Amino acid sequence: MDTLTSKLTLALDDIEAAGLYKHERAIVSPQGPKVRTPAGEALNFCANNYLGLAGDPRPAQAAKDALDRWGFGMSSVRFICGTQDQHLALEKDIAEFLKTDDAILFSSCFDANGGIFEALFTASDAIISDELNHASLIDGIRLCKAARFRYRNADLEDLRTQLTAARDGGAEQVVIVTDGVFSMDGSYAPLPGICDLAEEFRALVMVDDSHATGFVGEHGRGTPELFGVEDRVDILTGTLGKALGGASGGYVAAHQAIIDMLRQRARPYLFSNTLAPAIVAGSREALRIAAQSDDLRTHLNNMSALFRSLMTTAGFELLPGTHPIHAVMFPGEDGARFAGHIANRMLDLGVYVTAFSFPVVPRGQARIRVQLSAAHSREDVEACVAAFIQARQDVTAR
Ligand SMILES: *Cc1c(COP(=O)(O)O)cnc(C)c1O
Repeated sequence: MDTLTSKLTLALDDIEAAGLYKHERAIVSPQGPKVRTPAGEALNFCANNYLGLAGDPRPAQAAKDALDRWGFGMSSVRFICGTQDQHLALEKDIAEFLKTDDAILFSSCFDANGGIFEALFTASDAIISDELNHASLIDGIRLCKAARFRYRNADLEDLRTQLTAARDGGAEQVVIVTDGVFSMDGSYAPLPGICDLAEEFRALVMVDDSHATGFVGEHGRGTPELFGVEDRVDILTGTLGKALGGASGGYVAAHQAIIDMLRQRARPYLFSNTLAPAIVAGSREALRIAAQSDDLRTHLNNMSALFRSLMTTAGFELLPGTHPIHAVMFPGEDGARFAGHIANRMLDLGVYVTAFSFPVVPRGQARIRVQLSAAHSREDVEACVAAFIQARQDVTAR
């Protein structure tokens, strides 16, 4: 124990010295466009609260009602005695929204991605994965015996090379796996090109749309809708922990046989507790709101466009794109320190944003990631841009 403790202490000191230690800031209010911290109130531009439903009273009320009607917990996995009819209803809601045969709930999208590969693919298959895919996809793929291939981010030429290698290796089933949205850049996977290659090489396409479901695409059905390839994507995974209320839970939506097999074989589904009743009810309400009207999506897109235009006018460099994740770039050797100082100064000014540097993003490509929400007002966005301008001035003058 003593050797472990001293080893860990040294490693933690290294993390701190490299400026990579993640310090958690306690929030003393609900999630929303404004949050309270012990240091004061701040406009929040770093939540995945794209539709503003995390702090919306309607999912919260549905969850409160569910506590009375359905109780606090289930103390069971799904297949023993952990399935209420509302769990089945939420799965049906998700499948209907995404226009798939069926859907299956997990405790998180991390678990959905962790369980799916091993349950569906074997050593005679091949999985071809974008290099920037989410950690949970990487881990899930590792748990599976299929051959693994990785292609450069969104690079269709390299994807073709890897598909060729997989086919030459004699793979039976080939599946291409990608995030719908790459969350450090706010960029989209090139789904039409991916689907064309999948057709050519008789591969399946799996998209993790955690940063898209509910708000990307005309009706919020995510990146397949945005690109008009809904009937060419075979497997969708996603989270209830971002736009769809932000509580917790994940899902897979796909053909019936895939969902049926996951209920039999996916280990996080078989061996982990069912989703809590109040979360099921709140998430159903969040999904109902997202499905029912375009108002939140329209407002989100307006605020996102306003932010991009004001920042560009103010001379900041943003990675191109239309997703409500905006990467404000601070390139070069000193960029990481500069971005860190700006984010700290902005918090003093009452605006909460997060700076990312190596190893989370490539060296020399430090950035502040700004995430817009339908809960933001025009004044909130203007205040955020004003804080960027002020902080840049203050940090430069030091
Ligand atoms: C957030 C995220 C996850 C994890 O979702 P949880 O439900 O929070 O576990 C998985 N994949 C992607 C692409 C994500 O952005």
